[in-house]
Amino acid sequence: MIVTEIRPKSILSTSKVHDYVVNPYVGCQHGCAYCYARFMKRFTGHREPWGQFVDVKVNAAELLRTEIKRKKRGTVWVSGVCDPYQPLEARYRLTRECLAILVENDWPVVVQTRSLLILRDADILEAAGNLEAGLTVTTADDEIRKLFEPNAPPIAARLRALEELHRRGIRTYAMIAPMLPGAEALPQALRGKVDHVVVDRMNYHYADWVYRKHGLEGMLSDAFFRHAAGAIAAACAEAGISCRLVT
Ligand code: SF4
Repeated sequence: MIVTEIRPKSILSTSKVHDYVVNPYVGCQHGCAYCYARFMKRFTGHREPWGQFVDVKVNAAELLRTEIKRKKRGTVWVSGVCDPYQPLEARYRLTRECLAILVENDWPVVVQTRSLLILRDADILEAAGNLEAGLTVTTADDEIRKLFEPNAPPIAARLRALEELHRRGIRTYAMIAPMLPGAEALPQALRGKVDHVVVDRMNYHYADWVYRKHGLEGMLSDAFFRHAAGAIAAACAEAGISCRLVT
């Protein structure tokens, strides 16, 4: 893993998903096989494989403190092209500092991660007036998770994080994206842990080779995804969880 400390010129960027996005890191230690964020390599000149480099924006909080005064208030997504709670965050605490600034200034925030390190910052999340905390859970089957996301935390740990955040009164959601084999069983596991669920197929094809290698090609078809998304929506309804299908 090549870790480089950098000092970019800005941190609060406009986004197509929410009004703004804050990415305290370039690159992601989780290195998921399907990750769409690998396009960042083109913009940053990295030649290393995705998942083997991280640039740490050590001045992220300093920049945010300045930019938040100049820009119109809007919803901030933390983060879009990295996991804000990847392991390096335990050392650098950049996500924590940025969240504290956003919450102090009462800006709406949507946090999205695969890591239970988010629990470290529950004190900040609890204090927020307008914040949602989401864990991405792609399958209920941890053997499948290991094939596609071997360096990301186990599914059970993510479910525990959601449960704890929800118990502390923080608005929580599960992002089922991409919808991997075994995702159909997630609504049952999410019962009582989330306020809502978002399902997105995220049809990027970077991980098609993993499906082929493990004989899972049948689960790449449109028919399979339609069936799985329908099953998730029905199971969410049964579990009393609001569900939004993006695909
Ligand atoms: S956690 Fe998210 S940003 Fe990181 S590699 Fe996986 S999909 Fe990409």
